[in-house]
Amino acid sequence: MAERIANVSGQKVLLIDRRPHIGGNVYDYKDKNGITVQKYGIHAFHTDSKEIWDYLSLFTEWTDYHHQALAETSHGLVNFPVNLNTIDELFESDFAKDFSERLLNKFHEGGKISVADLQNDEDEVLRRGAEILYEELFKNYTMKQWGMSVDEVDPSVIARVPIYLNRQNRYFTDKYQGLPKEGYTAMLNKMLDNPLIEVRLNTDWNDIKDKVRYDKLFFTGSIDAFFNYKYGRLPYRSLRFDIQTLPQEHYQPMAQVNHPNHPTMTRSIEHKYLLDEKSRNTTVSFEYPEAFNGKNERYYPISQKENIDLYTQYLNEAKKYPNIWFFGRLGDYKYYNMDQAVGRALELYSEVFK
Ligand SMILES: Cc1cc2nc3c(=O)[nH]c(=O)nc-3n(C[C@H](O)[C@H](O)[C@H](O)COP(=O)(O)OP(=O)(O)OC[C@H]3O[C@@H](n4cnc5c(N)ncnc54)[C@H](O)[C@@H]3O)c2cc1C
Repeated sequence: MAERIANVSGQKVLLIDRRPHIGGNVYDYKDKNGITVQKYGIHAFHTDSKEIWDYLSLFTEWTDYHHQALAETSHGLVNFPVNLNTIDELFESDFAKDFSERLLNKFHEGGKISVADLQNDEDEVLRRGAEILYEELFKNYTMKQWGMSVDEVDPSVIARVPIYLNRQNRYFTDKYQGLPKEGYTAMLNKMLDNPLIEVRLNTDWNDIKDKVRYDKLFFTGSIDAFFNYKYGRLPYRSLRFDIQTLPQEHYQPMAQVNHPNHPTMTRSIEHKYLLDEKSRNTTVSFEYPEAFNGKNERYYPISQKENIDLYTQYLNEAKKYPNIWFFGRLGDYKYYNMDQAVGRALELYSEVFK
């Protein structure tokens, strides 16, 4: 938004963040081994939108990184998300063959089905296979991620978990995929490279709101905090990242490994794979989901009816302020991938500055 306002509309922007760096959760930095570390967990860029890809390409070149992941199971590491290769890796060969054949006889090859549907199928072999996939890969991961028992998790979350009937080990199917060649922070610095944009870090809106004058305010923090929680607090899930440098060339076979049945950790990310960087050491971040407690960061809005109702109350409050707009993951209380966050900003810019 700051980039468009300065570069296209030629207006002055004050960009603030209470963190000590720009870029929010996509911020990355080079550590002492020359490895680019994505501080807030792995961020793989993917989009089907040519417009968004072309827009960001004004500020960066891209690598051809296509994200893949593995999951740790009682049968070792398997491809994730689940596809026919995962079935071969996880089950003993006779069962894997039978399971895959029945899947392909019943469903369209190349398509996807949900694990929840399969758990209720009339075919006993399909039900048994789905149950094992669910126990090995989904159940505990989902509970850790959301801090709830499986019964409490919004059923649509589990219903959406896909099994792909193909053998393509790619995480995303989007047309455009890659990583900014010099990292996200370099791309963002280019976006902000305009004397009309002043960046102030370590600055919380609450601390300066009575001291700055503005025509328009775009707020990407949490909407409940902006209104001083007058209707109550919007819940979020958070994460703790334990970033470690290890004295070995590699820790795991690829950038992302999920640990569904570890008691507390969900993922380990080995960063040197992302930009294909070489070092005798390696940097790995281990992710531990936790509740948002007011001291850590808000990462995931929790999409449950009562939370959306509360958010709607704030949105109605916001309508009283015609020169203030809320957007982004926290302002809209909606999980956005990076491309969606960018798309939302571009749309809002066109709407406001038409
Ligand atoms: C662990 C994790 C992994 C992800 N992986 C991917 C991925 O692989 N691919 C993908 O496309 N997307 C991924 N995402 C999503 C991606 O991070 C978001 O799409 C993107 O960060 C959204 O940007 P945003 O500006 O809405 O929010 P944010 O990045 O959260 O930025 C909001 C900023 O506002 C600041 N702020 C908040 N309140 C205040 C205040 N009162 N005063 C001053 N500053 C304030 C915050 O400090 C923060 O820097 C991931 C997200 C997480 C959490």
